[in-house]
Amino acid sequence: MFQLSHHTIVIFSRCPMQYRFYTTPEIRKRYRKERPFLTLGENIHDTLNSFYKDFAPGDRTLANLEHLFREKWKRNRRGFSSLDEEREWGMEGLRQLRNFYLGFDVTKDPYLLPETYCSIELANAVSLSGRIDRIDHEPEGLHIVDYKTGSPLEDSVGVVTDDDCLQLKLYTLIIQQSHPDIPVVKASYFFLKKGEFRSIYPTDDMLEETRSRAIGIAEQMKNQREFVPRMNALCAWCDYLEICPIKEKIKNRQERR
Ligand code: SF4
Repeated sequence: MFQLSHHTIVIFSRCPMQYRFYTTPEIRKRYRKERPFLTLGENIHDTLNSFYKDFAPGDRTLANLEHLFREKWKRNRRGFSSLDEEREWGMEGLRQLRNFYLGFDVTKDPYLLPETYCSIELANAVSLSGRIDRIDHEPEGLHIVDYKTGSPLEDSVGVVTDDDCLQLKLYTLIIQQSHPDIPVVKASYFFLKKGEFRSIYPTDDMLEETRSRAIGIAEQMKNQREFVPRMNALCAWCDYLEICPIKEKIKNRQERR
């Protein structure tokens, strides 16, 4: 079964060679790098998940949320070059959690908090999977929410990725196919940095278009024979920079900046 996800689509579109490295398990494992923004994202997601599972609605206070985050952080503090850097990222995490606390009614349990990847068979021999953060049950139907803690692209270049909300559309496909009895009426990113939602309201046409697009991309990935390196704004954060055939060109460009 060929496995497709929003993450692999993003990598493939950005740089076919990075995709090739990422989907070769030995290379992926050998060159995986720890990054501060990954640690922040993991700890925040983990904290928010435990917050609902471990605390009764009346105990979901901001103090308990922050305490939980500090406990998670003690167990996952990878990728920092100094204590000062770690402290800065930790403070950012606390700021983001406060925004979360203001943005949600924490006394209301989510309908679903998926523990692992959700997956569907998208087409013959093609599966689509995604790690969905939470699903709420609203009066008209389901609301999928994806927490965003920021990304290197947003931080360094000031550009927001995923302009057409492809990730939300793919998640909607997954949930609509696995929970056909309840309509998905809304899917949202919740940007924890600013405490803001960005939402789409899925329609049948939107989902059909997304399904065809995803199947088309899967075909392209399966049939790709040449995985060329494509220099882009995120090369500096690429785990495979040291083995990239155009690393000198990338370094020269970085030095010229
Ligand atoms: S460093 Fe840049 S060009 Fe090279 S594999 Fe990574 S993303 Fe592609």
